[in-house]
Amino acid sequence: MDWLQILEECKNNVKSRIAPLLKASPNKPKPNLGIGAGGDPIKQVDLVAEKAITETLLGKGLSFTLISEESGIKRYGANPKQHYITADPIDGTTNITRGIPFYATSIAVSTKPELRTVHAALVADLFHNITYTAVKGEGAKRNNQEVKPSELVDLSEAVIGVDLNTYKVREIAPQITNLIEQTKHIRHLGANALELCYVADGTIDAFIDIRGKLRTTDTAAAWLIIKEAGATITTPEGKPLNAKLDPKEKLTFVASANRKIHRTILSLLKGKQP
Ligand SMILES: [Mg+2]
Repeated sequence: MDWLQILEECKNNVKSRIAPLLKASPNKPKPNLGIGAGGDPIKQVDLVAEKAITETLLGKGLSFTLISEESGIKRYGANPKQHYITADPIDGTTNITRGIPFYATSIAVSTKPELRTVHAALVADLFHNITYTAVKGEGAKRNNQEVKPSELVDLSEAVIGVDLNTYKVREIAPQITNLIEQTKHIRHLGANALELCYVADGTIDAFIDIRGKLRTTDTAAAWLIIKEAGATITTPEGKPLNAKLDPKEKLTFVASANRKIHRTILSLLKGKQP
């Protein structure tokens, strides 16, 4: 089965179905979400995107279990254990609603509801038409061109993403003070799946989320893209990520372009001085 072709169709349908809700243009990126009665317009974008994915898969006659940020775990077709689809239909909903042009759809296919069984993945920047894909054992691609992570090892030149969106920031911040002190360029762009793909293709050098808040639905597809690109992703303790695919399951991780910068980051997180 050509999963990339199917995931590509899912993405195209997400894009076309959310377009009328956004009414965005390059000159006027802030969307008009005045979409009438029916409640929360923010949620509406997410739900429309999820429906686009589900209907595309059903249109192919597939049986599958959908593990989604929006509606939890749902089973479709006669044999729903045949395929597991883990989706964050829109990653970066806040960016969409504020007109920040950085948001994605993220879809992973696995044989079991476990991260390590993900074998096909797509993360697509819906604003800039940039699509990252990976198939297990076949490398990672950006708009069909093979990607490689950066070889940069010097933190003073590195661009590192850190997600600190949490009420527990007083708890988390001390763990990353050493790292921030050594790093000149810290970023957070607001769509974690996409920021992980930026590590895969060398746009940034690392992305760190140690809040204990990020769902596996946000990470599943990017996890395979990172691995297949040859970048590194582990727990902050340096262990392989091993998670159940479930919207309630949360992850902490460090993703780095190469092993050398990864080791440096992990040791700074452990409180060691460089
Ligand atoms: Mg989302």
